[in-house]
Amino acid sequence: MSSSGGIQIPSRLPLLLTHEGVLLPGSTTRFSVDSARNMQLVKSRLLKGTSLKSTMIGVIPNTKDPEHDSDELPSLHRCHGCACCSVFCSIGTAGLAVQVVGSNWPKPHYTLLITGLCRFRVSHLLRERPFPVAMVEQLDRLEQYTEGGQLDGELGELSQRFYQAAVQLVGMLDMSVPVVAKLRRLLDSLPRETLPDVLASMIRTSNLEKLQVLDAVDLEERFKKTLPMLTRQIEGLKLLQKTRKLRPDDDKRVLAMRKGGVFPGRQFSLEEDAEDEDGDDMAMLERKVKEAGMPEPALRVCLKELKRLKKMPQSMPEYALTRNYLELMVELPWSKSTTDCLDIRAARVLLDNDHYALEKLKRRVLEYLAVRQLKSALKGPILCFVGPPGVGKTSVGRSIARTLGREFHRIALGGVCDQSDIRGHRRTYVGSMPGRIINGLKMVGVNNPVFLLDEVDKLGKSLQGDPAAALLEVLDPEQNHSFTDHYLNVAFDLSQVLFIATANTTATIPPALLDRMEVLQVPGYTQEEKVEIAHRHLIPHQLEQHGLTPQQLQIPQDTTQEIISKYTREAGVRSLERKIGAICRAVAVKVAEGHKLSRTDSSSEPGALFTKPAEDSDMTAPPEMPIVIDQVALKDILGPQIFEMEVSERLTLPGVAIGLAWTPLGGEIMFVEASRMEGEGQLTLTGQLGDVMKESAHLAITWLRSNAKTYQLTNIAGCADPLEGNDIHLHFPAGAVTKDGPSAGVTIVTCLASLFSGRLVRSDVAMTGEITLRGLVLPVGGIKDKVLAAHRAGLKRIILPKRNEKDLEEIPSHIRAELDFVTASTLDEVLNAAFDGGFPAATVTHSQIASKL
Ligand code: ADP
Repeated sequence: MSSSGGIQIPSRLPLLLTHEGVLLPGSTTRFSVDSARNMQLVKSRLLKGTSLKSTMIGVIPNTKDPEHDSDELPSLHRCHGCACCSVFCSIGTAGLAVQVVGSNWPKPHYTLLITGLCRFRVSHLLRERPFPVAMVEQLDRLEQYTEGGQLDGELGELSQRFYQAAVQLVGMLDMSVPVVAKLRRLLDSLPRETLPDVLASMIRTSNLEKLQVLDAVDLEERFKKTLPMLTRQIEGLKLLQKTRKLRPDDDKRVLAMRKGGVFPGRQFSLEEDAEDEDGDDMAMLERKVKEAGMPEPALRVCLKELKRLKKMPQSMPEYALTRNYLELMVELPWSKSTTDCLDIRAARVLLDNDHYALEKLKRRVLEYLAVRQLKSALKGPILCFVGPPGVGKTSVGRSIARTLGREFHRIALGGVCDQSDIRGHRRTYVGSMPGRIINGLKMVGVNNPVFLLDEVDKLGKSLQGDPAAALLEVLDPEQNHSFTDHYLNVAFDLSQVLFIATANTTATIPPALLDRMEVLQVPGYTQEEKVEIAHRHLIPHQLEQHGLTPQQLQIPQDTTQEIISKYTREAGVRSLERKIGAICRAVAVKVAEGHKLSRTDSSSEPGALFTKPAEDSDMTAPPEMPIVIDQVALKDILGPQIFEMEVSERLTLPGVAIGLAWTPLGGEIMFVEASRMEGEGQLTLTGQLGDVMKESAHLAITWLRSNAKTYQLTNIAGCADPLEGNDIHLHFPAGAVTKDGPSAGVTIVTCLASLFSGRLVRSDVAMTGEITLRGLVLPVGGIKDKVLAAHRAGLKRIILPKRNEKDLEEIPSHIRAELDFVTASTLDEVLNAAFDGGFPAATVTHSQIASKL
C-alpha cells in the first residue's frame, strides 16, 4: 500500500470516469472499462508510455449516475461542503495503473488494476476529447500531518480509537495465526492518517459510503465517517461468531446475516434463544418422526436414534450424520400414496393420443392395466420394453403413469456397476447415502409411483457387487415388500411401486432379471409412420417448446420425408425430433427478429434463407405470415444432406453383396466385400467379426468349393477349385463396429459366388439367413427391423429364409406391397434370386439341358 507522503502528482491529469467502483487512496482496485473515452485513454496513455508520469491517471467515480451514457462526459460529482461553484468541481483519486489487460469478449474492453495514491480536486477541464484531461490540485499531503510524528488533540484521540478498532477487527478475522500477525504488522506500519482510506476499502462498504469517504477531504471528518463503518463490521463479526458457536449446523440464519453483509442494528439475544430453539427443534423432529406413518420397526429405530441425538454434542460429526438420517426417514413416503384412477377406455384414448402406431405394445399395456384394475394387488411380471432408441419406450412408460394418475420417476441404470447405487451405502461410510430406489421415493413423495428402470441391458458389474442382484430383490414381488436399503437399515415396502423396464436388447440383460420380466419388442418405425409421428406429435411439441405457432412455421410432408431419408438414418425418431428442433430454433430467431431477413431476402432470390409462399413476397406482408420450410430452406438450416443413396454405386464390381443385420439400434444394411489374388488358399477376414461370423465365412467357402462344378465357379486362372493358388479376402465395412451372428451366412455365399463367377449381384437385392454345410437356409431374428432398413435404403428385393415367412405379417401392408420378397430354404434358391438371370446363368443351364438331351 502506498502513501502519498513523498508523491507529487502532476498538475495535468487524464481522467478515467468509472461507473462501478470507487478508488480510495492506499487501495488497489480493478476496473473494467469499455466506453470510447476510457478506451482511448488506456490506448494512448497507459499502453504507450512507460514512465511513472505516463501511467498516472485521475480516477473520478461516477457511481451516482450509473445509467449515464458512458460516452458523454458526466457532470462530475460535487464534493460536499465545497464552496466552489464550477461544474468541474470534483474530487477523485490519482492512481497508478499497475496492470492493463485487454479482451475482445464479449465486447472490447480493458481491465485495469489501479493503485490509489492521493485525492485531488479538478480545477478546470482542459479538453474533453478524445479523453478528458484536467488541471488538478493535489489534496492529500501527508507530510502536513506527519511532521510532528503523532497526530494530536482531538484528531489524535480519534485516530487512536480508530487504530484500536482496526486491531480488534484484524484479530477477529477467520484466518490462520501467521496471516493475522502479518496483517497486524502491516497495520502498525501504516501512518495513522491513511487508516480510514485503507480500512474503508477493505471492509464491507457500499459505493455510496466509499464516496462519502472520498469526499471527506478533511482528515478529522474522514475518521468520523469511517469509524462507524468499522464498528458495524466488528459487531457483525461478533454476532457471526456467536451464532457459529451456538448452532453449528443451523445455517439458514447465518446465511441470512451473511447475505445482508451489513448487520442490522437489532440486538439478537441469541444466547438465550439458542437453548430453547434447540429443544423446540428436537421436539419438532420427534413429532415428525411420530407423524411419518412408519411401520413399527422403523419407528423404533428412529426413536432410538433420536434419543442418541439428544445426548450428542452438536460438534460431533456423528450428530450431523444422525440428523440427516432422521430427516430422510421422516421425509420418506411410508404411508403416502396416490389413488389410482384407472379407466380403461380413457387409458386407451390417452395412449392413442400420445402415441401413433405401436399397436401391439399399446394393446399389451392395456391388457396389463385392465388386469390390474380387476385385481389390484397384481403380482405379475414386470413389463420390459425392448427396442432401438427413440421408439417411444420411455414415453409409453410416462403415459402409463398418467393413465393411472400416478407419479413417474425414471431411474437411469446405464453404467451402474455398483450395487450400492441401487441399495445405498452403509451409514458407517463417510458421505454414505441411500440408493436410487429410496432416493426416487423421496423425490416423488408417494409410495406407489411408476418407476421406469431405463436401460437395464446396460447394467455393469464390478468388484463392489452385482447391481443386477440388488435389482432382483427390488423387482421380486415375493421379496420387495421388505426391501432393505443399506443406508436406511430398515425395510421399506416397495410392493406398491409399479416397475417398468426398458432395454435396447435382451442379449445383455442378466438372465435372472430377464426371467422376472415380460419382454415387449418395440421395433423401429417405417418411413410413413415417422412422417405421421412427426406431424402429429414431434412438430407440435417442438413448436410449443420454442414458443412458435403453426401460423409462424409450417413444415410440409415432403420436407419431413426429406429430413427422414436424407438427414437421419435411425429406427426411432430421436434424431428426427432433434432436426425438427434445429429448424424451430432457426425460425425462432427469424420470428424474434420480426421477419426482417425473410422480408428482404425475398423468396425470389435463389438461396434465400427462408422462402415464403409467393403471395407474401410483398415487402409489406405482415410478419405473421408462416415461414414454410421447403428444400432450399432445409438445406440452409440443416446443411448438405448427410445420407446419400450409395447402394448402387457400391455394387459395380463382382464380389459385393448386401446383407441385413440387426443391431440394438435397429436394422441396418450391411455390405460384404470380397476380393482374391494369387496365393496359397488363405482366407483373410476383416471388419471386427465375432466367432460365429468367422465360422459362417468358412462354411460358405466350403460349400461353394464343393459345389464349384455345378455353379461353374473358378479361380483367377479358370481352374475349377476357386481356392487353388488364390488367397481370398472378405471384408465387412464399418470396421469399427463389432459384428456377430449367423444371419450373414447367405450374404457371404452370394458375395463369394459373385467373386468366383465374375458376375454382378443385382443392385436392388438384400438378404439375410443362416446357412448349413449342406446348403440349407435357416431362419433368423429381427425380420421386421431388417426389412424396414432395406426399405429405408431403397432396396426392392429381399431374400429371406422360408421359415421366416410368418414374420412378414408384422410388416405394414403398404411396405410389403413395395417390396419383392423371395423366401428360400436352400442356397440354390438364394443364388437364383440374387443374380439376374438366375445362377448359374440361364443360358448355361439351357446348354446343360441341351447337352443332357
Ligand atoms: P426411447 O425411450 O425408446 O429411447 P423416447 O420415449 O425417449 O424413446 O422417445 C423419443 C421421442 O420420440 C419422444 O419425444 C417421444 O414422445 C417421441 N415418440 C417416439 N415414438 C412415438 C410415437 N409412436 N408417437 C409419438 N411420439 C413418439
